[in-house]
Amino acid sequence: MKSSTFDCDAKQPDDLLGDMDPLVFRETGHALVDWIAQYFQEGDRYPVLATVAPGEIRSQLPATAPEQGASMAQVFSDFERVLMPGLTHWNQPGFMAYFCSTGSGPGVLAEFLTAALNQQAMLWRTSPAATELEEVVLGWVRGLLKLPVAFEGVITDGGSMSNLLALLAARENAASSIRKRGLTDRHDFPLLSVYCTEHAHSSIDKAAIVLGLGQDALRRIPVDDNFRMRADALQEAIRADRRAGVKPMAVIAVVGTTSTASIDPAPAIAEICEREGIWLHVDAAYAGAAAMIQEYEWIFDGVARADSIVINPHKWLFTPLDLGALYCRRMDVLRKALALTPEYLDNKQSGTVTNFRDIGIQLGRRFRALKLWMVLRYFGAEGIRARISEHIRLAQQFAEWIDADPDFELLAPVSLSLVCFRAAPNRLKNNVDGLNALNEALLDRVNASGEIFLSHTRLNGCYALRLAVGHIRTSEVHVTRAWQLLREVLNCSNREYQEPSNFLTPDPSTCSI
Ligand code: PLP
Repeated sequence: MKSSTFDCDAKQPDDLLGDMDPLVFRETGHALVDWIAQYFQEGDRYPVLATVAPGEIRSQLPATAPEQGASMAQVFSDFERVLMPGLTHWNQPGFMAYFCSTGSGPGVLAEFLTAALNQQAMLWRTSPAATELEEVVLGWVRGLLKLPVAFEGVITDGGSMSNLLALLAARENAASSIRKRGLTDRHDFPLLSVYCTEHAHSSIDKAAIVLGLGQDALRRIPVDDNFRMRADALQEAIRADRRAGVKPMAVIAVVGTTSTASIDPAPAIAEICEREGIWLHVDAAYAGAAAMIQEYEWIFDGVARADSIVINPHKWLFTPLDLGALYCRRMDVLRKALALTPEYLDNKQSGTVTNFRDIGIQLGRRFRALKLWMVLRYFGAEGIRARISEHIRLAQQFAEWIDADPDFELLAPVSLSLVCFRAAPNRLKNNVDGLNALNEALLDRVNASGEIFLSHTRLNGCYALRLAVGHIRTSEVHVTRAWQLLREVLNCSNREYQEPSNFLTPDPSTCSI
């Protein structure tokens, strides 16, 4: 195997015009592919969570652009020396923080090709293939999710943009005059409200801010003991708003909340939205992929009754960042909210083809469909389902270890591949602050090992650790190692420290982690 150094000494061109020489491109490209293959194979060699201090990377880079060019070997040497230490390795199997994202082999190759082709998928005619592939591949995903064909899709850069577009459609549906007249100084108009739980993703807040509704428009509906929206409380909040002259605009049901992967009861919520005439948006950014598995189809019960749905292939469909998919059963409403045709973009095919810029904010759109298509073609639905099932199995196994250990406890039900838990040794029972400090320190220590990366959330005031399985190369070895590290660090704390505050400054001679 090659050393980790970029193995290519191709020179930079002597002239000041033109692009890289094709021979240099070929040689450099081969070396780069070798480097990436080795990076994939030796994933465990880098600390998953970057260990640099703030500013450390910036301080090693010149403040001004170089006047003279450099060979790719020189550029790459800087990349390895300066930038590599500052990377948190999302694409390594020890990554189990937040929700995972995989740059899979076919996805990475597709990205390489996407850059080479440099397609601009704003209009059908600026890339018929990109436009039609986007329609086809979104149809495939819709079929795998068993959603009706009435749901038209559009590829976005992720869940946040998809949530924003969905709420924009909901706003257009509730108050179409805003497109032209805006929201400023509108005394002729009721306030608009959006309903979600405190567990909805923060991108819903951002959408409310961007759309001019303001965060005060968000009604936080109480949850049940399993962090799911209470439909009775939703109904009550809608009634209260109507009595106060506020116009309900949208309800956000989340299938797989960010903190705990809880699943809001879509059938009961859809019932209310249909009766009340309110736009229902389902955010299934992370968990949606699991609905492709027969055993987990239930997570999409009632979802087909929504007006819009988001799933994020860059989370659990092994597609590199960035790619989100928004489905809308009333895409005409989003089109009405956004479509504009300046003369320079007018084209003869308008009305007979899809021009994706009409249902998105940005004009320039990259050829994202290619990577999703290549990922689905390469793994096949069967391969995708098998990998997602395995992730769920691994998470359930980890949850069983937690459940069986008297020093640990689960803090939320485990329905998919996310486990929320904490250390709760007897010596700290009923000491909320002590437990929170202990778990924060435990997380820091385990992450400092460089072998795995977990993240956290807060549930009912408790600091909760989150282990999310979702990377394509995460296997039983990595989940077992995560459990060993947690146990070892906690053993060390039980042995060597009486107070959790001491745990923050461990003695390296007595603690192996
Ligand atoms: N919705 C949910 C439920 C999420 O968990 C996330 C991110 O984790 C998002 C939306 C935002 O997605 P993105 O990071 O692609 O903008």
